[in-house]
Amino acid sequence: MEIRGTGIGQGVAVGPVVRMADALPEPVDRPSHLDPEREGERARASLSVVAAELANRGAKAGGAAKDVLEAQSMMAEDPSLIDEVTKLLATGKTAERAVYEAFAAYRDLLAGMGGYMAERAADLDDISQRVIAHLLKLPPPGVPNPGHPFVLVARDLAPADTAMLDLDQVLGLVTSDGGPTSHTAILAREKNIVAVVGAADAATLADGDMVVVDAADDLVVSDPTTEQVAHANERIAERAALEAAPVTPGALSDGTPVPLLANLGSADGAAEALKLGAEGVGLFRTEFLFLDADAAPSVREQQEHYTRLLTAFAGRKVVVRVLDAGADKPLAFLNDAHEENPALGLRGIRALRHSEVILREQLTALAAADAATDAELWVMAPMIATVEETRYFERLAKELGIRVAGVMVETPSAALVADRVLAACDFASIGTNDLTQYTMAADRLLGTVANLQSPWHPAVLRLIADVGAAGAELGKPVGICGEAAADPLLAVVLVGLGATSLSMSPSALADVRASLARYSPDDAKALARAALAAEGAAEAKQAAQAAASDITTARTSAS
Ligand code: PEP
Ligand code: MG
Repeated sequence: MEIRGTGIGQGVAVGPVVRMADALPEPVDRPSHLDPEREGERARASLSVVAAELANRGAKAGGAAKDVLEAQSMMAEDPSLIDEVTKLLATGKTAERAVYEAFAAYRDLLAGMGGYMAERAADLDDISQRVIAHLLKLPPPGVPNPGHPFVLVARDLAPADTAMLDLDQVLGLVTSDGGPTSHTAILAREKNIVAVVGAADAATLADGDMVVVDAADDLVVSDPTTEQVAHANERIAERAALEAAPVTPGALSDGTPVPLLANLGSADGAAEALKLGAEGVGLFRTEFLFLDADAAPSVREQQEHYTRLLTAFAGRKVVVRVLDAGADKPLAFLNDAHEENPALGLRGIRALRHSEVILREQLTALAAADAATDAELWVMAPMIATVEETRYFERLAKELGIRVAGVMVETPSAALVADRVLAACDFASIGTNDLTQYTMAADRLLGTVANLQSPWHPAVLRLIADVGAAGAELGKPVGICGEAAADPLLAVVLVGLGATSLSMSPSALADVRASLARYSPDDAKALARAALAAEGAAEAKQAAQAAASDITTARTSAS
């Protein structure tokens, strides 16, 4: 049987299924035989034990997992949740039931908000289960340990579990819930775990079933044939060879360079990115540094972080994006008004312009860090929609000492007038995540419209082609920094459409490097033409695959 979901990365795994234990049963709603004060003591004690455990796991795991687990630990001791528990206890409920109800109410609230917030609902369920298990003196729910390598199948994984997965035992991960932006997906990507998320039919898999988890094809095959297993094992061996291959600069088969850069959210990721062969940074998401800040960061604080980043990439290009606040990444000090449609609201450059002091301070900090280091700093503005905004940003950046200033092309309007936008600045970087969301009018965080969110759609590809053509005409660089650049075949198409560099999560670099090396500039153009001529996203991908296999066949028969 084939089960469809969303693959994270390009990996393949084969192994027997072990299911994550089902959740604890809902605590019975019966009157407590203890008084509310005593129940309150029990609840608070368990909440703080669980909070400490989560913080502890975070400290051990490090990286993105640390932030996620610390956030969870804070949720476990959130004063408003504890107040809610206390109120419920006053009505005579048991601590188990009060914790269950308080967390469930909060969880429903988040789930109702949709998008990024809804995907945090699983975090609350996990805390609630851990606290109830502690109250009942049961082992905390978590990843099973069957004593042999296995494919873990779960409804969704709590961040605490994903962070602590034993990568020698867990061959792959399949979840029936969770979208591409869930914490499970984010952590799986960071840890390079072969994963397919949001595979609803995974609920039918049972312990011991053999499966092939194929992230590249968004597929899980249960009860595979001998041939399918052999094919999967070949691909696993190919990927192992690929990961062990020497790290060379990105280039097409004739040697045409296509610099491969890293997307980073903190200077902490620099060493790993360099190890994986990042030739520089193509997108540094500065807003990730300040997601929890109540007040705008000081120039000094920013300068320190940027200096650390630029020092790590001495002699290389580093493209920093000024704060992209709003929609899925609100910053308290930049977006304080409630908006009905935040993705269409005061976000990105619009929010910065509204609080120009913050933009000036950031540019000042960046220019100072640039002056103190040897990297080649480029700075760009997010969510540009007009030529006028481009001029505004360019003027301000140059006034404050930035040498190379450009814009992100992530709105259809910027793409449609890319010739004029590029004439007004030094470079463009296409953010395919937002460009796809706005072109297809499909919220990038909403699972229900996921079928419309493909950057393979020819409507998106046509816009990218226009930007590429404008860049070539004016001799200005056009990079790609959205997730599309991490798809090895689409990366070739993007180069065929005129992209001059590609930036991605560092874990995707090896696959993209290997894919580019298989095609000449003419091949890349042929793939791009095939994709552009297709009717929809799936057809465009198929057309590019067919063109790629024609090229490989022609080459094999010629040699
Ligand atoms: C994009 O929109 O493609 C992009 C790279 O920016 P972000 O994902 O941070 O919005
Ligand atoms: Mg964006």
